[in-house]
Amino acid sequence: MSKHVNRTLTCPACLLQWSADVRADAPRSGWDSDFGPRFADGVALAQGVHTCPGCRYSAPPEGFLGDDAHPASADGPRWTERWQPLKPVRVLPPDPEEVPVLRRWLRRGEALGGLELDGGEPYGGERWLIAARCHEFLHDSDPLGVADLCLRGAWCARAEDRRPLERRCLEAAIEHLDTAVAMDLVDEDEQVRIAYLVAELCRRVGDYPRAVDLFDEVLTGADPDDDEGAFYLAMAGRQQSLAMVQSDVDTTLDPAVGPPGE
Ligand SMILES: [Zn+2]
Repeated sequence: MSKHVNRTLTCPACLLQWSADVRADAPRSGWDSDFGPRFADGVALAQGVHTCPGCRYSAPPEGFLGDDAHPASADGPRWTERWQPLKPVRVLPPDPEEVPVLRRWLRRGEALGGLELDGGEPYGGERWLIAARCHEFLHDSDPLGVADLCLRGAWCARAEDRRPLERRCLEAAIEHLDTAVAMDLVDEDEQVRIAYLVAELCRRVGDYPRAVDLFDEVLTGADPDDDEGAFYLAMAGRQQSLAMVQSDVDTTLDPAVGPPGE
């Protein structure tokens, strides 16, 4: 079972305070082939992101005001992922001079554009996507951070078995990863990893021709003598076979290979 703590969050945009269950720890039962963590009880991802009930500003706990919002200061152990496909984005509350323009943007409803909220309240997958939009609005020069939040939305929607939302989040993650590559923001030592990730996301949304090409990039670019390179060679070979037969089946990381560093 995941552990959570009840915390008071303060919205940096409208200063509303409310109490939320914030994730403190969650045992993982495995990894999907796009590095989505599988958790025993399915709510762990949803508890990692929060939406202000007043203005809909959304972020992980660190994006809200007050020391209380920071899991590091919680009594329980800090929830961490030991390995992630992207450097995890650190979402901080907006600077005071950014707040008026953020507030106006939220009031226009653009953060919720195109989302159909069941009963008016966003579930976890939507909260991650709204958080990605808030981060993009505040930091449009950080497409990798936006992609990270979109990817978490996809993993969360998958855990909630909400496939159309998962697909929407995956497509948004691909778009922002493409932007990051075009802006030359991907370090050389991350290029194989990002190519694998985009390839696998393309396979999962049914863009098989592009997935096959990107898996080829991994197969020619990864270093077989390096642990991480060998890992991507094995995974890219397996996933490319699926893309070639146009299979978008849910797959896990090969337990015989395991994620690097685990
Ligand atoms: Zn608010």
